[in-house]
Amino acid sequence: MKKLSNAHTHTTYCDGANTPAEMAAAAYALGFGALGFSGHSFCPADGFGMDAAALLAYQREVAALKREYAGKMPIFCGLELDSMTPMPAPGEFDYLIGSVHNVTAPSGEVWPVDMSIEVTAEAIKAFGGDPYAYTAAYFAAVDEMLATRRVDIVGHFDLVCKFNVGGRFFDEAAPAYRKAAAPVLERHADKFIFEINTGAMCRSGMKRPYPDYWLWDILKAHGTPVIIGTDSHAAGTLDFQLAAMREKAVQFGLRMVDIRDICG
Ligand SMILES: [Zn+2]
Ligand SMILES: [Zn+2]
Repeated sequence: MKKLSNAHTHTTYCDGANTPAEMAAAAYALGFGALGFSGHSFCPADGFGMDAAALLAYQREVAALKREYAGKMPIFCGLELDSMTPMPAPGEFDYLIGSVHNVTAPSGEVWPVDMSIEVTAEAIKAFGGDPYAYTAAYFAAVDEMLATRRVDIVGHFDLVCKFNVGGRFFDEAAPAYRKAAAPVLERHADKFIFEINTGAMCRSGMKRPYPDYWLWDILKAHGTPVIIGTDSHAAGTLDFQLAAMREKAVQFGLRMVDIRDICG
């Protein structure tokens, strides 16, 4: 089996705890076969992510690391492109992870889906207190992103569940929830690589990755390529559940790819 690698990696240029150099050193020490960086794009709606100066410095530092690790471990410069960020110029990044982090309420207010339990409760209130209207708006945003943008990898498909551990806000088995999620995955399963993301298992107490296992049936049926990503924000979690989740996905019969298959 191929050496491990990770394509969903954050650094101090956005909300990570370690520099790109520290993340690369950690990856090399773990015996990774490759490492992809995916700093957050700047999202005008919430001011989150790398601004123009940070983005330039990020690209320069990753380019320097590419040279430093040449012949030892391929390094790729990607971007986690928020759905509310304008598309970057073609070829500016080695790859793009397309991610929805916000929903727009009927009032026009933009609410993050991955901030906290309290913010999630407030966001659902902005949908008249109907959690299924809230989750439907999230999956509609994912649908629109994938219908209109050419990204390489779809990030954390069901991020809207981040603070729903234990069914706190909605029932993830309810038809109202599943009928909003499943058709979006069905519609785009033949067009993109989907990420299996262990980030919330590491940081938010979730017991399953994004997307949830019931959605894996759709990925399997379509023969959709999947990539395991840790969405790591610190050197110590770069390989969190990476090997175990890859094994699980292989056993399940999913079609695995990694960053080297995407970037060559
Ligand atoms: Zn994200
Ligand atoms: Zn991320």
